[in-house]
Parts: sequence; structure tokens; C-alpha cells
Amino acid sequence: MPERSRRIVVVAHCHLNANTKVLRLACYPGVRKEVIAPLVAGGAGIVQLPCPEASFLGMRRWGMTVEQYDTPAYRRHCRGILRTTVDTLRTLADDGCVIGTVLGVEGSPSCGVETTCGGYAGGELEGASGQDAARIPGRGVFVDELRTMLAEAGLGDVPFAGVEG
Ligand code: SF4
Repeated sequence: MPERSRRIVVVAHCHLNANTKVLRLACYPGVRKEVIAPLVAGGAGIVQLPCPEASFLGMRRWGMTVEQYDTPAYRRHCRGILRTTVDTLRTLADDGCVIGTVLGVEGSPSCGVETTCGGYAGGELEGASGQDAARIPGRGVFVDELRTMLAEAGLGDVPFAGVEG
């Protein structure tokens, strides 16, 4: 019987499932192998976060900016879908597991760790493509709520790392 590694890596949903990404933004068909394969080879347990944008706006959503997602309702949604995951991580930590890293998605308005997407300019959708939206320093809304909830659960020292989206 092999020993359990007792090491956990937490990954953004789309690292394991590109199908939740905004149409035409996925650069791999399903699993992001260059991110996930080393985790599997190293024996880490993988906890997949829920995708907050897919469950909030569905699969007909546009690419959006952090200003558009930073609302009380979206933050409440993020906290709601994170509750079970944070409870599970707390339970695993209490059982002796090390929660190694949370792997977010850089440039995402939800899952960015060091960088997000900002620059909402308003106006009609027609002609809005690109607007002034750009990669900016900052945290995505979902990652921001996850950090807060981990701290509330006594897991505030869990490190975060961003993977290029
Ligand atoms: S970056 Fe986050 S919100 Fe965007 S598709 Fe991936 S899991 Fe969903």
C-alpha cells in the first residue's frame, strides 16, 4: 500500500478544464499538461477550485475586466462556491496535509494572483472590442476572496502563484 504524500496543490479550475474559459481564450484543449503533469509526477494531491465566471455568467460571457466583476454580488458568489473547498482544505490540514500552493491564472479578472485585467471604458458593446483593457498589477476578485477565506480558516500562510493564462 503506497504512502499518501500529504501534499496538496490547489489549482484554478481551468488548469484542469479549458472548457470553462472564455471562447477563444483557451490555449490548450483540456488539461494544461505543462502545469498539471509535474504535480502528478511529484505525487501531490490536486484540489480543483470551482470556476466562478462560468457559474456566474455562463459560457456565453465576454472577456471582462476586474472593474466589471468587482461587485458585492460577484464577491458573494465567489464566497459561496468556495465554502466547501475551504472546508475541505481545513479538514485536510487538520489531518496533517500540507497545503502547498494555490495556482491561479495571471491576467484573469477573477483568478489573477499578481496581475489582472483592467480598463473598463463604458459605452456600447459595438466597437468596444479591446477598449483600453490591459494587463495591470492587481489581484482577481475570486483570488482576493479565497485569500480572505483561507485566512479566516486559519490557513492564511498558504502561498499563491500565478500561471500565465
Ligand atoms: S481563470 Fe478562473 S474564472 Fe477564468 S476560466 Fe479559469 S477558473 Fe474560470
